[in-house]
Amino acid sequence: MCPQPDELTNGHETNGHANGTNGSNGSNGHSNGANGSRNGYTGIETNTNPRPHASNPYAPVGDFLSNVSRFKIIESTLREGEQFANAFFNTETKIKIAKALDDFGVDYIELTNPAASEQSRLDCEAICKLGLKAKILTHTRCTMSDARIAVETGVDGVDVVIGTSSYLREHSHGKDMTYIKNAAIEVIEFVKSKGLEIRFSSEDSFRSDLVDLLSIYSAVDKVGVGRVGVADTVGCASPRQVYDLVRTLRGVVSCDIETHFHNDTGCAIANAFCALEAGATHVDTSVIGIGERNGITPLGGLMARMIVADRDYVISKYKLHKLKEIEDMVAEAVEINVPFNNYITGFCAFTHKAGIHAKAILNNPSTYEIINPADFGMSRYVHFASRLTGWNAIKSRVEQLDLELTDEQIKICTAKIKAMADVRPIAIDDADSIIRTFHLNLHSQHEKPLLPNLSPEEQKKFEAKERELRGEKEERDLEKTADMQAKVSDALEEVPKSKKRELELDNGDAEQESPKAKKGSRSSRRTSGKEAA
Ligand SMILES: [Zn+2]
Repeated sequence: MCPQPDELTNGHETNGHANGTNGSNGSNGHSNGANGSRNGYTGIETNTNPRPHASNPYAPVGDFLSNVSRFKIIESTLREGEQFANAFFNTETKIKIAKALDDFGVDYIELTNPAASEQSRLDCEAICKLGLKAKILTHTRCTMSDARIAVETGVDGVDVVIGTSSYLREHSHGKDMTYIKNAAIEVIEFVKSKGLEIRFSSEDSFRSDLVDLLSIYSAVDKVGVGRVGVADTVGCASPRQVYDLVRTLRGVVSCDIETHFHNDTGCAIANAFCALEAGATHVDTSVIGIGERNGITPLGGLMARMIVADRDYVISKYKLHKLKEIEDMVAEAVEINVPFNNYITGFCAFTHKAGIHAKAILNNPSTYEIINPADFGMSRYVHFASRLTGWNAIKSRVEQLDLELTDEQIKICTAKIKAMADVRPIAIDDADSIIRTFHLNLHSQHEKPLLPNLSPEEQKKFEAKERELRGEKEERDLEKTADMQAKVSDALEEVPKSKKRELELDNGDAEQESPKAKKGSRSSRRTSGKEAA
């Protein structure tokens, strides 16, 4: 299990709760589902951004080659995802995942090579028979024997791949570029003759010789391949390298360009985005990014990136509120937890903690959110049971608890919560209990302790903290008055003597007060006048 929010607030942190592959999958443990309340946090209604689309500084720069606003997804959970260390999908699970992805709105669903095993072939046929809206692809080696099996399964297209880097040519299949080119052309022409889509991809494209790559892509483009594929098989590429290669390739081929990015160095989403900016048309994804090693561009992460770039396109095309359901389904199938920091659906993806953030979020969520959780059927939370909280967050909680407190009272109550959180980690129930007892004590003769279960030592610490807070506040107030008096005194020094006399006569009480108090009283009048204005 990964930590429950309450556990986090109790300081139990994540020790012993690795996001690893435990049998008793806890990915669904967090009830951070759509529109639901979550134990330990408070979902908040906030003002909606009055101008959600106004001058978005993150909107992509317009470019005639960019496909940011018309990209397509090739969803590879059932191919790349099956290569994830923990994945074993039976037919029933594959069908469930395929249907969910289809419902979500992905353009293509890619399946494991039917030549891999007899069951893989049967599963491929079963999914082709579902009659989904998404086109079904299968992923094969660039050989006639694989292609012959693939075209008989009922798929809409075949994705062929062959290693082109010197590493793979020498240590994997041992073929030279002329052999690769001839094999590719033979397979492409065969698959096309069956009326199916065909993609040719190099493998390990970013460690392949550029001249070799462009020459083979150009050759397959000439024989009418549907898409060429660029694959960062080892996850080594940076966004800038991706942009350069795809942009160059865009000038060489006229067919579509598919891209596939592994996440070894954390660039899988950024690389996909850059590829689209450079003119790629298709991006490979998998749910939660599962795949070989630490996986590829995650479907949810890509959605997060793309909705910021072109919300209208993403919303019109994909059923975003289904994302969490699909992720939970796949996480359960492969026995992992959805990571706490997952895009969109991670349990703290829309949780705001610091008082200054909470205040701004309560006024306008766009201050600290670039994505609206409602677009994904998710909720926004303010985490108020901590020492970082602020009185605006507590005020929002007081309103939720249906209690009536003035702003001044809420500020005092907030100070008590912060003091308590300094003594020990507090859970949401503790914070609620403090608020309720504070409210009760205002109207009762006998003051009840704010938390019933404090140890004598904790009680002592809390009282000391409170004294400290009061002391600090008193000190600050005194400092403020002294500062103000000093300023007025300085100002009066500069007034000409005659004018000073006039001002002093103005003040009816002048004779009764010490010179210092006199100045102070004048200043406080001015201040209050200013405040009233
Ligand atoms: Zn891959």
